[in-house]
Amino acid sequence: MNGLAFETTAQNFVHVLGIRFNRMTRKQVVEQILHWVSEKSRRTIITAGPEFVMMTHTDAEVKRIAQLADIVTPDGIGVVWAARRVKHPVPERVTGVELVQELLHTAEERKQSLRVFILGARDEALNKCLERFQSQYPHAVFAGRNGYFQASDVPGVLQQIEAFAPDIWLVGLGQPRQEKLIVHSLGSLPPCVAIGVGGSIDVWSGIVKRAPVLFRKLNLEWLYRLLKQPSRMRRQMALPKFAWKVLKDTARRP
Ligand code: UDP
Repeated sequence: MNGLAFETTAQNFVHVLGIRFNRMTRKQVVEQILHWVSEKSRRTIITAGPEFVMMTHTDAEVKRIAQLADIVTPDGIGVVWAARRVKHPVPERVTGVELVQELLHTAEERKQSLRVFILGARDEALNKCLERFQSQYPHAVFAGRNGYFQASDVPGVLQQIEAFAPDIWLVGLGQPRQEKLIVHSLGSLPPCVAIGVGGSIDVWSGIVKRAPVLFRKLNLEWLYRLLKQPSRMRRQMALPKFAWKVLKDTARRP
């Protein structure tokens, strides 16, 4: 694939426990997004790790959302491992944090003036993130709103986004709330590419640090996050369940 033509042959996907992941490098996803922006198309991108895959097994709406997404990237070493086990390896892990940074960096190098709306996180993190992005990527135009609002506030939030008319809409409310909001609202907004980014805003702001390089090299980012935030334990119980299901599923294959 050349980044400008999105080929949908079976070879470009791998199915992991019923979810279809794109076998694309981060760079290819970036080129595809910029192409969609240039043609003003309405698209949804999900970055999905094992926790998200497991959510699709218990929530039919999340499953449908994953099936309708334009790109699902493997965001988690568990998915990379599972793809290898079914003998359709993905080229690399594509996290929301790095995907967006590379997107903004590429557009900046091309002096492309992207309009980016960031929805999510608390005001402190959001404002730091907006400040940092604006100074790192001066050709882009940023706006945002914190992610702490009630269902009754959604129409007002969408009006704010509509008035800004973004090319890229980053939604960091946590999964699967962010994906549900995207699917329910994208059609009523001017065409843009929506990307669910989870806790990335906290990382871009500098408030939350990513795991040290050693943890990342050893594929132990999940362990670092668990140590820093033991409250994630319940959510991370999805990981062994995911691994067990993959093992069972692949053992049955010839
Ligand atoms: N968040 C939000 N509104 C809420 C609840 C959470 O904007 O009502 C934000 C929270 O501040 C954090 C992100 O959503 O920035 C969730 O991060 P987490 O790491 O839990 O998400 P994941 O990437 O695991 O889906």
